[in-house]
Amino acid sequence: MFYIKIGKKKRNLREDNIYTRCPICGREHAVDLQEILKGGDADLYGTSVYCPECSERQKASDNL
Ligand SMILES: [Zn+2]
Repeated sequence: MFYIKIGKKKRNLREDNIYTRCPICGREHAVDLQEILKGGDADLYGTSVYCPECSERQKASDNL
C-alpha cells in the first residue's frame, strides 16, 4: 500500500482518491494508478492522463 504524507498526516492512496488533470481540457478526473503502473515505465510526476472524453476523441482521431 502507498500513502502520502502531508505534515504528520497520512492519507492512504486508494483507487478512488487519486486525481489528475486532463492535459487537453484541464478537467479534474480520477485515475486508476494500477493501470498506470502496469505500463512499467510510470513516471508519477510526468505522466498525464486524458479524461475519458479526450481519450475517446484521441482514439477516434488515431483511427482516421
Ligand atoms: Zn479532457
